[in-house]
Amino acid sequence: MSIPDLASLHALGAAQQPTYPDRARLEDAVTTLRTAPPLVFAGECDDLTAKIAAVARGEAFLLQGGDCAETFAGVTAENVRNKLRVLLQMAVVLTYAAKVPVVKIGRLAGQYAKPRSSDLETRDGVTLPAYRGDAVNGYEFTPESRIPNPQRLVDVYNASAATLNLVRAFTTGGYADLRQVSEWNTDFVRSSPVGQRYEALAGEIQSALDFMAAIGADPVEFHKVDFHSSHEALVLEYEHALTRIDSRTELPYNVSGHMVWIGERTRQLDGAHVEYFSHIRNPIGCKLGPSATADDALALAAKLNPSNEPGRLTFITRFGAAKVRDGLPPLVEKVTAEGVQVAWVSDPMHGNTFEASTGYKTRRFDDVLDEIRGFFEVHRALGTVPGGMMVEMTGDDVTEIVGGGEEIDEHGLAHRYESVVDPRLNRVQSLELAFHVAEMLRA
Ligand code: PEP
Ligand code: MN
Repeated sequence: MSIPDLASLHALGAAQQPTYPDRARLEDAVTTLRTAPPLVFAGECDDLTAKIAAVARGEAFLLQGGDCAETFAGVTAENVRNKLRVLLQMAVVLTYAAKVPVVKIGRLAGQYAKPRSSDLETRDGVTLPAYRGDAVNGYEFTPESRIPNPQRLVDVYNASAATLNLVRAFTTGGYADLRQVSEWNTDFVRSSPVGQRYEALAGEIQSALDFMAAIGADPVEFHKVDFHSSHEALVLEYEHALTRIDSRTELPYNVSGHMVWIGERTRQLDGAHVEYFSHIRNPIGCKLGPSATADDALALAAKLNPSNEPGRLTFITRFGAAKVRDGLPPLVEKVTAEGVQVAWVSDPMHGNTFEASTGYKTRRFDDVLDEIRGFFEVHRALGTVPGGMMVEMTGDDVTEIVGGGEEIDEHGLAHRYESVVDPRLNRVQSLELAFHVAEMLRA
């Protein structure tokens, strides 16, 4: 099995692609990437497929989280560790409170390219090309910085390699040891009500570990965690150059991340992205928003997973809190009735974005929570599996989403708004969400 060449993918009219002014430099970048070592291995991707199959059967819960858009400046040990720490805390809350295994996936080590609803951005009467993520152009609002620069694709590879190296060290090198469960609860969080709730839970885990140690049980699972990377595979040059034939199986894998997904704006059935994704063997996601019909979902599944392999395809639904209860059931019903194998995951972020009176792009914590609640209600009513959630979050104390226990209001957003694209849950909000979802899982 092989994959179509880049030119034939572009001939399908690929959506959301940068227009590179300098084709020769683009060729150079692609050539460099084609010989770069893989960031992930095919066998690791297959392991994740098996885990997502368990998610689809209701035997595990999928937790996917990270920035809307990673930045090159954000590749620091502190930033990566903070993000990972909150994800691990969320996973512990979900695992301990709901007693289900959690499949942990970061939106990281590759999440650098962004689809935009407009090609242009206007500020104070000046119009420039929109920022499309550090993979494409600069955030700085100047004509030079907004020109797509192909060297950035090589920079994405290097930034992703550095991030993944840190993640692998943190998750296997002792930091993710369950004995650290209380250490993850640092300063600021510890003093918040949700931090105290976490502290109590960490105490229970600690005494369970002490008991296990006393009887001489010390399984390897106590000392390291399985963690996977994911990103939206958007810029074809990058994703295609990092697609390799696995020597073991002779099958093509995208070796730039364990799981890759198709965004809401690039899921056209006859488009380049769906075509590309139909050829790779990674576990893949596909976003489905309010405009998706049940027939769209069926056609996507038929094209993306023709052999109906469990764990291969995840539908990530993002309807918005106001629409999920009416919009989701027809999709789930028909897909289930046709015997189509998918894992259902809720993205409670992208259907709930609005502009605050203060001009910031934001979301309400309560809407995020309500969409997940609606997602659980729909699946429980239909007897299907609410398999997981994908959230935009950070390990820092940013103020980008209104509400939550800290009661951030629209004026408070200005205090520390750092996202270059979409608003993220901060540390406390992420942890709060995990406790709420653990209760939904237990119900
Ligand atoms: C995203 O996940 O950041 C995103 C752009 O989502 P969607 O494609 O669902 O709009
Ligand atoms: Mn986003």
